[in-house]
Amino acid sequence: MKHRKCKYIFVTGGVLSGVGKGITAASIGSILKAKGYKVTMQKCDPYLNVDAGLLNPVEHGECYVTHDGVETDLDLGHYERFLDFETSKYSITLSGSIYKELIERERSGGFNGKTVQLVPHFTNLVCEKIEKASAESDIHIVEIGGTVGDYEGLPFIEAIRLFANKVGRRNCLYVSVVYVPFIHTSNELKTKPAQNALRDLRGFGIIPDIVCVRTEKPCERAICEKIAAFSGIPGEAVLNLPDINSVYDVPLNVLKSGVLKILNEFVDDEKEPDMSGWKEFSKRCDYHHPKTVTVGLVAKYVGNDDTYICVTEALKAAAAWNNVNLNLKWIKAEELGDNVTKTLKECDGLVVPGGFGVRGTEGKIKAAEYALNNDVPYLGLCLGMQVACIAAARKGGVKNANSEEFGAKEKDGNNVIYIMEDQKGKESTGGTMRLGDYIAILDNKSKTKKIYETYDWGKMDDERYEVIERHRHRYEVNQKFLPEMEKGGIKVSGTSPDGTLVEFIEAPNRKFFVATQAHPEFKSRPLNVHPLFMEFVKSLK
Ligand code: GLN
Repeated sequence: MKHRKCKYIFVTGGVLSGVGKGITAASIGSILKAKGYKVTMQKCDPYLNVDAGLLNPVEHGECYVTHDGVETDLDLGHYERFLDFETSKYSITLSGSIYKELIERERSGGFNGKTVQLVPHFTNLVCEKIEKASAESDIHIVEIGGTVGDYEGLPFIEAIRLFANKVGRRNCLYVSVVYVPFIHTSNELKTKPAQNALRDLRGFGIIPDIVCVRTEKPCERAICEKIAAFSGIPGEAVLNLPDINSVYDVPLNVLKSGVLKILNEFVDDEKEPDMSGWKEFSKRCDYHHPKTVTVGLVAKYVGNDDTYICVTEALKAAAAWNNVNLNLKWIKAEELGDNVTKTLKECDGLVVPGGFGVRGTEGKIKAAEYALNNDVPYLGLCLGMQVACIAAARKGGVKNANSEEFGAKEKDGNNVIYIMEDQKGKESTGGTMRLGDYIAILDNKSKTKKIYETYDWGKMDDERYEVIERHRHRYEVNQKFLPEMEKGGIKVSGTSPDGTLVEFIEAPNRKFFVATQAHPEFKSRPLNVHPLFMEFVKSLK
C-alpha cells in the first residue's frame, strides 16, 4: 500500500462499551481540526448487519443518513457534529458489508480458487476500506465498535494492528478508552478490569499510545499511574476523563487532560488549537438564560433519548445560540387523543420528527392540526411534513385524508400521501428508500427561502434558489390534493427541480410553520446550526 501523508488514529474500548468512546474519539479529532488539519472519521462495527437501515431505532438509536445515501449508525452523526465534515459510505464499515463483499467476490470467481480467510482477506479488505476513507484527510480517525476481546471484533483489531505494518507505526496512534468503576461498598476505584483490557489489547499486538481512563468522578493521579505501571505505558499517556454534564464540554475536557503534548508529538507540530468556537458554545450551553422555551417533540419512540438524537441536538444548539434554555417535552404521539389541547398547551412550539408505520400517526396529525389552528410554531421533519399535509387536507375538505402508508387508498380518494412510483413493492427492504442528498428549489416568495437565504445555506442558480438536504423516505405528497391543502392553510414552498416531488411546505400566515420532506437535522452542527432550527427556536422567544 502506498502511503500518502495521512496519519491514522485508532480508537478501541476496553471493559465496557457505551462509555463515550465515540465522543472521545471525535473530541480528539476536534482538537486536531482546531490545529488546522483536515480530519475525517470512520466507524468499524462488528455487527453482521450490512447497514443500519433495518435496525430498530428503539434498540439501536437513530438511523443516520450520509449525503451519499447510506443508512448508518448514529455515531456518524456525532462525527459530523464534532468535526463539521460530511461522512460518506466510506465512513462506516460493518462486518456484514465486508463479508458480503468477500462472498460476492468469491462467488464470482474473484479469488481464483484460493481459500478465503478472515486473515488475510477480511483484514486486508478492512485496511483497504480505511485507506479509501482517508483518501482526502490529513488525519483519519477509526473507531472500532464494541470492546476489545469481543469475538466478532477480533478481525478488526487484527486489521488495525496490520495497518501500522503497512503505513509505518509512527503514522499510527492507538487510543484505548477504558472504564474504571467506583465500588461504593469499599469506597475505591478498581483498576483491575482496565489492566485486563489493556493486557488483552497487548495480546493482539497493540500497545496504546494513549489510554483514556473514564471514571464517574475525577480520579487521583495515582490511579492513572497504577494503570500505566501495570500496562507498560508511560504515565503521562494515561489520562483521566471523568463524566461531565454535556458532551460538548468533552473537547475542552480532553484538551485539559494533557492529550495535546502527545498529539503534538504525533503530528510534529506545536501549534495551539483554536478552540474558541467550542469555548463559546460550551459557555452558552452551561449558562442559565433568563428565558426558557418549551418544545414538544411529538414522537413515536419515546424512552430512548438516542432515537431522535440529531433533532434534539439541533434544538439544544439552536436554543444555546438563541440565548434561551430548552425545556424539551417528550410527547407520546399515540397517547394524544381528545386531550390534545390539554397536553400541548404548555408547549411554545412543536416538532414532529420522522417516523415509519401507522402507530401514533393520528396523534401526530392532531398535533399538526393544533399548531395550524392555534398559530403555535411547528417544525415538521419528513413524516412531520406528511402529517401536516394530511391535517391541512382534512381542514380543506378531504375528511378522511391519510397516507397510503397508514391505509389510505386511491380508490377512496384520500391518499394525500402516496407511495413514490419507484418504491412500490420495496417496503420493508433495506437500502431502497429515496436516500441521501437531493436538491430542492425553493419558491422565491416563500418564508422557507428567506430563512435559508438569511444563513446563506442555499445558492441562486439561474433565478432558482437551490438547497440540498438529506432524505430517507418512500412516500410523497400527492399533488392532486394541493387545492385542498391550500384551503387548509398551507402552501408548497419547495419542490424537486422537476417539480414532481414536494420538498417543503409552509403556512404563510403563521408565525412559524415550516415542514420538509427532508431531514435537515442531519446537517445541523453545534457550531453551525441549521437555519430551520435556528428560526424555529427564534420564533418561540
Ligand atoms: N414513513 C414516511 C415515508 O417513508 C416518512 C419517512 C421518515 O419520516 N423518514 O415516506
